[in-house]
Amino acid sequence: MLSKIFRAVILGAPASGKGTISKRIVDKFGFVHISPGDILRLNELNGTELGKKAKTYIDQGILVPDDLVIKLVSGRINEVGNKSYMLDGFPRTVVQARKLNTIDNIDAVLNLDVPHEVIIDRVRGRWIHLPSGRVYNIGFNEPKVPGKDDLTGEKLVQRDDDQPEVVAKRLQVYEEMMKPVLEFYKQHNLVTNFKGNTTAEIWPQVEKFLQDKTKTAVAHCA
Ligand code: ADP
Repeated sequence: MLSKIFRAVILGAPASGKGTISKRIVDKFGFVHISPGDILRLNELNGTELGKKAKTYIDQGILVPDDLVIKLVSGRINEVGNKSYMLDGFPRTVVQARKLNTIDNIDAVLNLDVPHEVIIDRVRGRWIHLPSGRVYNIGFNEPKVPGKDDLTGEKLVQRDDDQPEVVAKRLQVYEEMMKPVLEFYKQHNLVTNFKGNTTAEIWPQVEKFLQDKTKTAVAHCA
């Protein structure tokens, strides 16, 4: 099928549903998913120089230096070549956003806008089976027996950083960090907001947006 390359940045707070939406974009539109967090973790696992350098920062939960991440992302963009892609977790600073501008032309910034109180509520109901990583959600994906994993019957726990006060803090930190990046993209008229309380509300908007955009892109090419 004839279609233009589309380059998107996806932004969304922790637990905003960004992971699910990203996966659907990949499945439905065939975008390549570029996530520096994933690449860094893979490098760490494989014990590469990059992985070793990044580890100290990642373990402390702080950002890896811009030059390192920029090198990694630009390398990945080059490898991807003539395909549509979606950047997830990049840029996180204005330096990264500016640099990205010199590497490639971004077509759109998709900003997932979920109210903080909804996110805090959602995370409050999240229970995890630590050995397997299975996640349950009170209200829509409950365990068969309260507090117990469906497969093993072992106990479920809540993550320390899923406590409401901690989540509120993480959301605040995210907002503060991303504000200048969002401003940068607003000045370039690239931001589209997708507002909703659930992925079920947000996904149809994202889907329509990308359908329209890729349609226009095809019309341009024809
Ligand atoms: P999280 O959403 O928990 O931050 P990520 O997978 O996006 O998870 O990132 C994990 C870690 O990788 C971050 O804490 C940071 O150290 C590093 N990292 C990821 N993306 C970037 C980036 N764009 N700039 C700097 N560091 C990054």
